[in-house]
Amino acid sequence: METIGTLARLKNWFIEANKIGTPAVELLAYTPEPEKLVAVAARRSYDKRSAKQIWEEMNDIEVPRLLDQVIGHRHLSVLEHANFTFAIEGISRALSHQLVRHRIASYTQQSQQRASEQDFNFIIPPAIQGNLALCREFQEKMRELANFYRKALDMGVTKGQARYALPNACMTRIIMTTNARSLFNLISQRACGVEEWEFRTLAIKMHMILLTVAPNIFKYAGPKCVMDLICPEGEEGKKCGLYKIIPGAVLCDGERKMSATRLQELMKQEAYAIEKHQ
Ligand SMILES: Cc1cc2nc3c(=O)[nH]c(=O)nc-3n(C[C@H](O)[C@H](O)[C@H](O)COP(=O)(O)OP(=O)(O)OC[C@H]3O[C@@H](n4cnc5c(N)ncnc54)[C@H](O)[C@@H]3O)c2cc1C
Repeated sequence: METIGTLARLKNWFIEANKIGTPAVELLAYTPEPEKLVAVAARRSYDKRSAKQIWEEMNDIEVPRLLDQVIGHRHLSVLEHANFTFAIEGISRALSHQLVRHRIASYTQQSQQRASEQDFNFIIPPAIQGNLALCREFQEKMRELANFYRKALDMGVTKGQARYALPNACMTRIIMTTNARSLFNLISQRACGVEEWEFRTLAIKMHMILLTVAPNIFKYAGPKCVMDLICPEGEEGKKCGLYKIIPGAVLCDGERKMSATRLQELMKQEAYAIEKHQ
């Protein structure tokens, strides 16, 4: 895996994506010495010493070597020992809905049932921002919804029910805690060039922060074309084109068909039979 070289080549792409203002992401807290902890967990598999002894005797040269080994062999469960808590602000409810689909994480989000959304802020997607007439109309619709929301509250409707008039664009705040393995999964899906701009920007920002606190772990994270050297996105992937600058990466459609055919051939030849490999 030529991951460090690949990351260097992706630097410009990261910088471009990072120019987009929202969302605001901050790493609130994380497991102390995450790389060392993961390396100790990796050694636990085959080392007869106590975990405490492994921890105490682990040195700075051994940590990256063990991480290279364990992540290279896709023994990814060791990554689950390192946790990271992000404060994410200035994102749309459309994005927060997608974010919480990542089930391994824990979340706490600003409530629309308890907090009033009288003066709610909203996200304007770049494609709408880029069209002045459409952008004005969008802002007008937001004002209309805000007026309706206020009117409903004035007439005694609860916040919990008035919020049904609030849009997907409504800004929200969320705290997310999850482990490094789950972040690998999130980054691989959402830093992908075919993902919508908002989640992609969030994923890339998270990745950039993670690279500063645990570079020897997160240098292995990235969109699927970086991590697995396969872009599964077919025509969309062609438009993104990121896979083209990753050495050895390929578009997946043809590959998938090929491996299914290969498996059928293996079965015909009985090369896949269990007894042959015992
Ligand atoms: C390009 C794209 C398009 C999408 N389109 C849609 C769509 O049209 N409709 C839609 O509803 N969603 C859609 N999603 C969301 C997607 O289906 C996932 O819900 C979301 O991306 C979270 O991914 P995850 O399940 O891998 O993450 P997590 O929930 O964090 O799970 C992480 C991993 O844990 C394992 N895991 C978690 N829960 C289970 C379980 N119950 N059983 C077995 N293994 C489990 C899986 O290996 C999983 O990959 C889309 C996502 C992407 C990236």
